[in-house]
Amino acid sequence: MKQQGISDKKIIIVEDEKEILDLLNLYLGNEGFEVVSFTSSEGVLEYIENHKTDLLVLDVMLPGTDGFTLLREIRKKWFFPVIMLTAKIEETDKIHGITLGADDYITKPFHPLEVVARIKAQLRRAGTYNTSVPKEEYYNIRGLEVFPERHKVVLYGENIELTPMEFSIVLYLCQHINQAVTSEELFEQVWGEKYLGNNNTVFAHIAKIREKLHENARKPKFIKTVWGVGYRMEE
Ligand code: CA
Repeated sequence: MKQQGISDKKIIIVEDEKEILDLLNLYLGNEGFEVVSFTSSEGVLEYIENHKTDLLVLDVMLPGTDGFTLLREIRKKWFFPVIMLTAKIEETDKIHGITLGADDYITKPFHPLEVVARIKAQLRRAGTYNTSVPKEEYYNIRGLEVFPERHKVVLYGENIELTPMEFSIVLYLCQHINQAVTSEELFEQVWGEKYLGNNNTVFAHIAKIREKLHENARKPKFIKTVWGVGYRMEE
């Protein structure tokens, strides 16, 4: 484990390939991030337990405990953005990671600047929704309460734990209540990237949100499917 940089944003990287680790350390350090790196899952949970963490970059294939297993443990307790790294290109892996609570997914080989850009997008999104909305403003959709500033979702008085990405989707749908929002629009607004026909990503997130809201998949009460178009939050 080593540390560098003086930014107030701390990025944890878990990656067993030393070349990649060194490269990310270099690029993120240049951006002023504080970087803490691990070459395996060992000690990561303990570190997060005891230190402020803003974002995690997590390799899937690791010696010992793999990245998916570590992610599952992390999501039981923490909701900072997680970006997965992997050499595998299968779409199923992507969906697996996302349903476990990853916010983004980068396939190797990648350019370190791409990772920097994705990290910034995640931090921006996590931060923007925390600060841009007046305190008292919130949405109440038949018992589903969404608090933009506190990043909080309450269903019939019960706190619902959403990942930052899931929260952003719910918030975007609330901001466009009763309107059909296309998968493309959701992806580009929430992920901040050009949509390239990969609506599995949006679909996987919506499925996870519905599960957390105890939605009946055939007759969802809150997020309706608009066939051939996308999704609509109904008042
Ligand atoms: Ca690896």
